[in-house]
Amino acid sequence: MARWFRKPVAAPDVAPESPNTGVHMSLVQMRTAMNSLPMGVVILSADASSKWNNRAIYGLFPAGSSDFSTFMARVDDLLGEALRGRTAETTIEFGEPMVRTLELTSLSLIDGGAAVIVDDITKRVLTDRVRTDFVANISHELRTPIGAVSLMAENLVAETKDTDVARMAGVILSEETRLNNTIGDLLELARIEFDGLSNMTDVEVMKIVEEAIARLRSAALAKSVMIAIEDFPDVVVAGDRAQLVSAVGNLLDNAIKFSPNGSIVKVAIETADDEVRIVVADNGPGISEEHLSRIFERFYRVDDARSRSTGGTGLGLAIVRHIALLHGGDVGVASTLGEGSRFALKLPLRRLGQVGDSNT
Ligand code: ADP
Repeated sequence: MARWFRKPVAAPDVAPESPNTGVHMSLVQMRTAMNSLPMGVVILSADASSKWNNRAIYGLFPAGSSDFSTFMARVDDLLGEALRGRTAETTIEFGEPMVRTLELTSLSLIDGGAAVIVDDITKRVLTDRVRTDFVANISHELRTPIGAVSLMAENLVAETKDTDVARMAGVILSEETRLNNTIGDLLELARIEFDGLSNMTDVEVMKIVEEAIARLRSAALAKSVMIAIEDFPDVVVAGDRAQLVSAVGNLLDNAIKFSPNGSIVKVAIETADDEVRIVVADNGPGISEEHLSRIFERFYRVDDARSRSTGGTGLGLAIVRHIALLHGGDVGVASTLGEGSRFALKLPLRRLGQVGDSNT
């Protein structure tokens, strides 16, 4: 059974002719070169009267297989579209349980014809799946025993009230929470690294911020911190919604953690040129100049003891930066000691008419 997922791509700019003047290749030489390519190539003439497949195409499926006919029908669709100037990149999966994944890229040729390039990406897809399974397994293998230890420590605290044993069990509990948070953040980083931007959609920035605020509401309430929403223009970015919520959530989490009780954390969405900035500002202790450039490093903390006491892992800002860079953006900070900090998650603004619009 074949499944396909279609991702529109921009029509490639026509590359200028290479300055190979004086170099003439015969049709036979061209054909030999095409036939020695590891990827499949199918070429259709401008008037759609003749179609040519290179040798790799015939190596993709056993002769006479029904998958081959399904595959060629899909290639014909893409060639027809490319003749009309609509090129695309498509992934097709064949066969069960041994799934093979092929990536098809269609091109409009300079002479008016069309071509489809076929790449067998089965190995790459399998490797990605193994990595994802690895992250899921690690999560289970580490969290299950930690959960058991934590349960025992809780029981000990309850059974040995106000004794040294209860106090020691309390320390075990709080260290377990820290370990659990660190594992959670490490796994989140690994997941972002493995998945990249495989779940790209158009996301309303307002929704990202609202979801992040909803997640942090109880933490803010516990410190009587008010989250004040300032400018909220109606803008859209292209990105992974869950990752972006997590990035804004990390900035808000820090702002609440480092703010004095009863203070205000301000959140605003600003736009400038082609950029959206989600700004989170607090009245916390601020960060001195010497630390500012390092706080986005993994496990870097300005005040180790304070970070530990607030349950910090030292990974939050590294996650924010990773997500920002993955989305073609960045994260910046301005801070004054004793006055507070202002973090800005910067993302490229999504303009109507860009690649990926349903009407393009
Ligand atoms: P943590 O889990 O320790 O908060 P982060 O990576 O989120 O780790 O932040 C790294 C360090 O940057 C923190 O330990 C803290 O010293 C500093 N920091 C981050 N956000 C703020 C903030 N809003 N105000 C003051 N310091 C901050």
